[in-house]
Amino acid sequence: MSAPATPAVRALLDTLGSEQLPSYVYDLADLREHVGAVRAALPERVELYYAAKANPEAPILAALSGLVDGYEVSSGGELAHVRATVPQAPLAFGGPGKTPAEIAAALALGVRRWHVESEQELRLLAQLATEPVDVLLRANLPVGSGQLSSVALAMGGRPTPFGLDPEQVEGCVRLLAGPGFERLRLRGVHAHLASGLDAAEQLALARRIVGWSAALAERHGFELAEVNVGGGMAVDYADPTARFDWKAFGAGLAELLAAHPGLTLRIEPGRALTAYCGWYATEVLDVKRSHGEDFAVVRGGTHHLRTPATRGHSQPFTVTPVESWPHPWPRPAVGTGRVTLSGQLCTPKDVLAQDAPVTALRAGDRVLFAMAGAYAWNISHHEFLMHPRPDFHFLG
Ligand SMILES: *Cc1c(COP(=O)(O)O)cnc(C)c1O
Repeated sequence: MSAPATPAVRALLDTLGSEQLPSYVYDLADLREHVGAVRAALPERVELYYAAKANPEAPILAALSGLVDGYEVSSGGELAHVRATVPQAPLAFGGPGKTPAEIAAALALGVRRWHVESEQELRLLAQLATEPVDVLLRANLPVGSGQLSSVALAMGGRPTPFGLDPEQVEGCVRLLAGPGFERLRLRGVHAHLASGLDAAEQLALARRIVGWSAALAERHGFELAEVNVGGGMAVDYADPTARFDWKAFGAGLAELLAAHPGLTLRIEPGRALTAYCGWYATEVLDVKRSHGEDFAVVRGGTHHLRTPATRGHSQPFTVTPVESWPHPWPRPAVGTGRVTLSGQLCTPKDVLAQDAPVTALRAGDRVLFAMAGAYAWNISHHEFLMHPRPDFHFLG
C-alpha cells in the first residue's frame, strides 16, 4: 500500500535534480501536528518522553521540544547530543551497560531520572551520586504473550540483557532501603516489554505493569510515585495510513490513573512518533529482468535505509514518473506489473521492497519511500561499499 507525500515534501522533490538524490526529507510541521495530537489524546498525569534512539537528528529533537515532556536517552553519546540540542528538556537515562564514565557525566549534566537495569548498576549509581536522584527499577515482567498479536515482539518475560527479573527487583528495593543508597530515591518501576502493540494490547500491558508495581510498593512500604510503561506502540508498514489509536489508549490510561491517585505514568515511544515524518527519495538507475522477475535498481539502498532489511518488510513507496529520457536506446521498464526494488550494494540483502505491484516503472523514474523517519538512516551501515551519503532536508 502506498502513502502519498505531504505537499511540502512534494514541492521540495520537484526542485531536486538527480545529483541531489537520494535525499532524506523530513516534514517537521507534519511531525509537530502528529505529536501534538498524541499529546492531546493523553491525560495530564501521563508524561510523554521521546526515545531518542528512534531518530536523534537535531532538527527532529528540536521540533519535538514543547510537545514532549522529556527525552529518553540510552548512551553517553545520546545524552550529550540531546542535552546540547534541547538544553532545558528533562532527560531519563536508560539502557544496559552504562559505564562509570557515562554515569558520572550524566550526573554532572544534572540527569536526575534513572532507569536502572541491574543491581551492579544500582551500586555504581549509589557510589557516584553526590546529589539526590530519582530511580525507576527496570523490570523484566512476563507479558502474557498469548494475548499479543502476531506482529508484536515480546522482550519481557524471557531471558534478555534488559532489566531485572521480578525477584531481583525485590532485592534492589531492599538494598535501596539500606545504608549507602541514601541519595537514590526509589520512585517506581520502568518496563519496556514489547513492541508493535496496538492500543488495547498496550493498555492491557500497562495495567499489568501498574498492578505489579503497586503490589511491590505495598509489600515494601514505599510510595509508588511513577511508573514508566515504555514504548513500542504499533507502526504498520503494510498500511501507512493506519495509526496507533492514541485516543483509546489515552482514555484507558485515564481510567488506570483514576484507580491510582498520586501516580504519574510515563510512556516513551520512539517509532510511533517519528516514523511518519520521514521520506527517502531516490530514482531508478536500471530495470532488469532476472529469471522472469523484474528488478529496479535505485540510487542508494539499505546502507541508507536499513529498516526493511532489519524488519523483513517492504518499505511503502510511490512512483513519480519522469517523462524525459536522454538516451538514444530503449528505456528499460518493468513489464511484469511487479518489481523488487533493490539498491546499489553487492549483496542480495539490499532490498527495499520485495515483489511489489507497480502499474509502471522505468529507468529514470523517481521513487519515494514513506515511513522513513524512525530507525532508518541512524541504524544503517553507511560505510558499506563507500557510496555517497544522501542529502538531508528538514521542512517546516
Ligand atoms: C527502544 C526503546 C523505546 C522505544 O521503542 P519504540 O518501539 O521506538 O517505541 C522505549 N524504551 C526503551 C527502553 C527502549 O529500549
